[in-house]
Amino acid sequence: MYAKKHTVVNEDASNSNWNELTDVIEEALKQHCFSMVYQPLISVQSGKVVGFESLVRCESPTFGVISPCDFIPCAEQSGQILELGSWIFQQALLDLKRMRNQGMENICLSLNVSPVQLLHTNVYEQLMSLIIELNIPPSAIKLELTETALIHDPQTICKVFNAFKQEDVQIWLDDFGTGFASLSLLRKFNIDGLKIDRSFVNGIADNNDDFTLCSAVIAMAQRLGLHIVAEGVETESQLQILSQLGCDVVQGYLLGKPQTLEQNLSLWS
Ligand code: C2E
Ligand code: CA
Ligand code: CA
Repeated sequence: MYAKKHTVVNEDASNSNWNELTDVIEEALKQHCFSMVYQPLISVQSGKVVGFESLVRCESPTFGVISPCDFIPCAEQSGQILELGSWIFQQALLDLKRMRNQGMENICLSLNVSPVQLLHTNVYEQLMSLIIELNIPPSAIKLELTETALIHDPQTICKVFNAFKQEDVQIWLDDFGTGFASLSLLRKFNIDGLKIDRSFVNGIADNNDDFTLCSAVIAMAQRLGLHIVAEGVETESQLQILSQLGCDVVQGYLLGKPQTLEQNLSLWS
């Protein structure tokens, strides 16, 4: 039912690792070992926080800290992302409500959404009922999907997006430039904004190709009336170049690492 993400060299070894990770996720779900952290998105012009991206964390009692780069693809393949994803939405929206109530009234929340969630659950009903229950303006929610997510089942994804857009929920393309970057997709899917992948931002100050790519993406976004966020900003020189290129908003270790709700409240509110 779920597409396998990784090409494996040693099928047996990889399957057993995968099964083991599925068990670890199962245990973590049962024992509530997942938590959320939030990384600030900063306006280049004002230097103020305009939003946060929610990022899930897992600390397994048996294996310690596991990276989402490992457990998310596994949870997508096993279908566990459906249960995990619902929990993430609920926790992240509750935390957004707290931030908005405690001095950050206009803050937005960027939520990572897996294509498996879009195709196999009633994500729309789930999120909209939370938004209504918590009285959060729908425009404060930005759903982040990767380019590859769009090509799984474009028709269904398009329908779900349109339903969200009707309610003013924003749709963003994550890791832009790393996947199937067809420009016509931007039009077809009625995207609100792009996040330039950190692999390009990383080289912007000393690699000509990365600089050219970032400046072209920013110029294109401006022409198309799309918002843009540069991810993975780690140095002052990267920030300065992005600012000169007209990038709206930046995110990265230079501006703030992902931290717990409490840490963010005491830092920013
Ligand atoms: P992503 O959505 O591209 O998230 C950004 C990743 O870059 C995060 O890694 C963040 O900690 C990291 N990052 C941010 N700024 C910097 C920087 O300046 N330098 C470097 N080197 N890294 C930076 P993280 O939290 O490990 O998440 C990895 C990926 O796992 C995410 O990539 C996303 O694809 C997935 N993920 C994380 N949380 C969720 C979630 O709640 N739901 C879903 N479906 N996927 C998630
Ligand atoms: Ca993201
Ligand atoms: Ca990203």
